[in-house]
Amino acid sequence: MNRREFVAACSLFGISLPFQSFLQSCSEDDEAPIIPGDFEGSVLIIGAGAAGMAAGYLLEQLGIEYQILEADTTYGGRFRTDTTFTDFPIPLGAEWLHVSEAELPAIVNNEAVEIDTRLLPYSPTDTSGYFSNGQLTVNEVGSAVNDDQDKKFIGSSWFDFFEEYIVPSIQSKMQFNTQITSIDYSGDKVIATDMDGMPYEADRLVLTVPLKLLQLRQVNFRPDLPNNKQNALASATIWSGMKVFLKFSEAFYPTFLYFDDSATNEGQRLYYDAAYGQNSADNVLGLFSVGKQAEVYQNYSGDALRDYVLNELDEIFDGKASETFQDILAQNWNEKPFARAAYLEDEASSSISRAMSKSIDNKLYFAGCSYTQFEDWSSVHTATRSARDAVRELVR
Ligand SMILES: Cc1cc2nc3c(=O)[nH]c(=O)nc-3n(C[C@H](O)[C@H](O)[C@H](O)COP(=O)(O)OP(=O)(O)OC[C@H]3O[C@@H](n4cnc5c(N)ncnc54)[C@H](O)[C@@H]3O)c2cc1C
Repeated sequence: MNRREFVAACSLFGISLPFQSFLQSCSEDDEAPIIPGDFEGSVLIIGAGAAGMAAGYLLEQLGIEYQILEADTTYGGRFRTDTTFTDFPIPLGAEWLHVSEAELPAIVNNEAVEIDTRLLPYSPTDTSGYFSNGQLTVNEVGSAVNDDQDKKFIGSSWFDFFEEYIVPSIQSKMQFNTQITSIDYSGDKVIATDMDGMPYEADRLVLTVPLKLLQLRQVNFRPDLPNNKQNALASATIWSGMKVFLKFSEAFYPTFLYFDDSATNEGQRLYYDAAYGQNSADNVLGLFSVGKQAEVYQNYSGDALRDYVLNELDEIFDGKASETFQDILAQNWNEKPFARAAYLEDEASSSISRAMSKSIDNKLYFAGCSYTQFEDWSSVHTATRSARDAVRELVR
C-alpha cells in the first residue's frame, strides 16, 4: 500500500487542509520505551537536523558517548528559519506540526521539563480560496478543520523548539563544517571520513543525511549498501522544494489559496497566510511548493521570481499584489548543498522508507524523515520518531 492509498483508507484526504495532517492518526503513536541494554561503546551521528539532534539528545539522556558531525555551518537542516524578514520567525522548511501537541513532550522525553511552545490550530471560520478557470471562490474552511489538523508555531518554530529544549544538552557534542564523504563499516569499528580525509571512529554510527544525497552518492560505503537499500534508493522519487514569502501592506488574500494542481501525484502547492496567529502588524503570504509544482517556481530567481509570483497573484486578486507589495524572501531547497531537494514524495511506496530504515550489522543505523518504519515520512515528527527507533535498537 502506498502512502496515498493509506490516507484514502483512513478516509481523511482532502485538499482543504494544509499538507500532511491527515496522516497523523494513522501513524504509529505507541512506542516501546527505550530500555538501555549493556551497550557501552561510542556512537557517531552524521547530520544535525531533527533526527540527528533527537538521536544525540536521547544518547545524552542515556549517558552514552556520542559525537554529532554536521556538514553545514550550523544545526537545523530542513527546519531552518529566517529571523530578518519580519518580526516572527519565518520557517524556510518545516512549518507546521502535523500531529498532536503530545509530540513535543515525546521529543523532550523528560516529564520534569515544562514546554511553553505555543501552537495554534486553524479555525472553521478561516477562509479557503480556490482559483480555477480564471475564477476565485472563497469559502469558510468549516468542517475541514478538526482536532487532528496542522498547527502553526506562534512566535516560534520547529527550529526554536529544538534550540530551547534539545540543543543546550547536546551543543558541546556537535561539530560543524564536517561533511562526511565515506563510511567504512567493514571492521569492528565504523569509520566515517570527512572531505578533508579526517577519520572519525566509533562502535556504531547513526546516519541521518537526506535520502537525496545518498541517491547522488555523496556518501560512499564500504562495503556497499545491501541490495534492498540500493533498490529502494534507485526507485525513490524525491520531490523538489521551494518556499516563497511575500510581504504586503494589506492582507487581501484568504487563509489558504488552492489551485487545480494544489495536490497531484507529482507534487503540491498552495499560498497561505504565513502570519496567521502571529503577534505582528506585517502581512506575510507564504507559498509552499514541492515536486513538479516547485520546479515551475525554481525556473526563476531574484526579480524574475518576484515578477512571476506577483503576476500570478495579480491575476487572481485584480492587481492587488503588485499594488501592495513590500518585500520577498525565497528558499530553493534544491540549491541547498546538504539537502538538494525537499523530501521523499508522498506517493512513494512505504517499502522504500522501511528498507532504508533497516540497520546493518548492528553497526550502521539510519534515522531521518525518509528512514521510517511507519506509513508516514517527510516530516519533523517522523524524523524524530525514527531517531527514537534507531536509538532504541542501538542500545538494546
Ligand atoms: C519546503 C519544505 C516544507 C516542509 N514542511 C514541513 C512541515 O510543515 N512540517 C513538518 O513536520 N515537516 C516539514 N518538512 C519536512 C521536514 O523539514 C523534514 O522532514 C525534517 O526536517 C528532516 O529532518 P532530518 O533530520 O531527517 O533531515 P535534515 O533536516 O535534512 O538533516 C540532515 C542533516 O544532515 C546534514 N548533512 C547532509 N549531508 C551530510 C554529510 N555528508 N555529512 C554531515 N552532515 C550532512 C545536513 O546539513 C542536515 O543538517 C518540510 C520540508 C521542506 C523542504
